Amino acid sequence: MKPVVVIGGGVIGLCCAFALHRRGIPVTVFDAGPAERAASHVNAGWVVPSLAEPVPAPGLIATSLRWMLRSDSPLYIRPRLEPAFLRWTLRFWRACNVRDYRAGLEATAAFGARALELYDALRDAGVRYEEHRDGIVFAYRTSGALRHDYAELEPIRRFGCELSPLLDGDAVRALEPSLSETVVGGFWLPRERSLRPDTLVRGLGDYLTEQGVPVHSNTPVSGIETTGTRATAVFANGERIPAEAVIVAAGAWTPRLLRPLRVNMPIEAGKGYSIDLAPPPALPRPVGRPLYLHETRVAVTPLDGMIRLSGTMELSGLNHHIRPERVAAIARSAGWALRGWPRETPTAGPNVRVWTGPRPMTPDGLPVIGWLPGYRNLAVASGHAMLGVTLATATGEAVAEMMATAGVPGILAAFDPGRFS
Ligand SMILES: Cc1cc2nc3c(=O)[nH]c(=O)nc-3n(C[C@H](O)[C@H](O)[C@H](O)COP(=O)(O)OP(=O)(O)OC[C@H]3O[C@@H](n4cnc5c(N)ncnc54)[C@H](O)[C@@H]3O)c2cc1C
Repeated sequence: MKPVVVIGGGVIGLCCAFALHRRGIPVTVFDAGPAERAASHVNAGWVVPSLAEPVPAPGLIATSLRWMLRSDSPLYIRPRLEPAFLRWTLRFWRACNVRDYRAGLEATAAFGARALELYDALRDAGVRYEEHRDGIVFAYRTSGALRHDYAELEPIRRFGCELSPLLDGDAVRALEPSLSETVVGGFWLPRERSLRPDTLVRGLGDYLTEQGVPVHSNTPVSGIETTGTRATAVFANGERIPAEAVIVAAGAWTPRLLRPLRVNMPIEAGKGYSIDLAPPPALPRPVGRPLYLHETRVAVTPLDGMIRLSGTMELSGLNHHIRPERVAAIARSAGWALRGWPRETPTAGPNVRVWTGPRPMTPDGLPVIGWLPGYRNLAVASGHAMLGVTLATATGEAVAEMMATAGVPGILAAFDPGRFS
């Protein structure tokens, strides 16, 4: 029997392969590599179904216009005169309204509601990776931002979000003693988890390989063959590989694979950065729980033997260029939030690694999961933006359901690739 071919070996492609294999459907994965350039390698590793808000949000236009011109701000847009980028930007601004935001938030929250349970199923099946169950602490230096963000989480409660009461500075420091006196308050999402991203990707790859699923690393797919309404094969390594069905899960590279089929999939790269400090700087109190410094949009993730600082969104095309001012801005956040953090965070040196990776960003902030319009066996699973790790297991399940039934589960309605046609 011909396999289902998954293009992309990031967390989305691998979770699709996992779910297909569990259903007894033959599957093969191709990944272009190198793995370190994928968003799945460099992210903060949070599994946070409660943080379901789409990136385009009411009020973001004003904030981002302020941020836009400073290359060290949390969001940086490098203006480009390419028609596809201009169309994307226009759609993005249009999506910054209350109605679309609420609808997107609800669709994403409903989709992610089973994320933790599905991660448990991954572990139960034998996928090994580093995981922490310490929740996520939000810490603030202004009470206005704290109250605003806390209120924003209210609608998610009905999807299972557990939320601590609002905590003042002393209470949040009692929960997380590494926080500095600058922190005026915060709150805690006790149920959310964190993991070490590269161990998840490796763990999934190892599991699949042990199960006899071919995972071809460093093997880019150069094209997809189609006949009428069907994808019939892919090309890789100069070979034609016949396919029962094809799933394009190539993150921010997805549009490049679809362009030869005359499909313009509006996915831009939202470049993010991570700084790994291993071992972490010696602090009076080591960081115990993942922290979200929401005012500066920086995630602090303590992992075994290291700490990872992640943040920034840079819309500058698909590239891995490191801008030192953005690395420095991330490092500065740890400085205000953490007690005893060195005045100058090292951003280079033997114990430091800086990574960049492209988040796959759609203009409405929602993933693209479903059959490509006009095709019966060619699917897309991409556009997960800031939530790819969180939604990976749910995406795998939904795509496997599509492959098994040739239909589309209702939960995917808001993520239909056809909405951009
Ligand atoms: C700094 C940062 C922090 C983040 N933090 C979080 C977080 O805490 N929680 C969360 O849920 N999400 C987070 N995200 C988002 C998350 O990382 C992404 O949404 C997710 O990794 C996307 O996964 P993917 O598999 O779609 O794409 P990728 O991980 O980018 O993988 C795509 C793969 O496709 C391959 N590919 C490309 N072209 C081809 C081709 N022609 N043939 C074969 N393979 C190809 C690439 O080599 C790549 O390996 C973060 C992202 C960043 C950048």
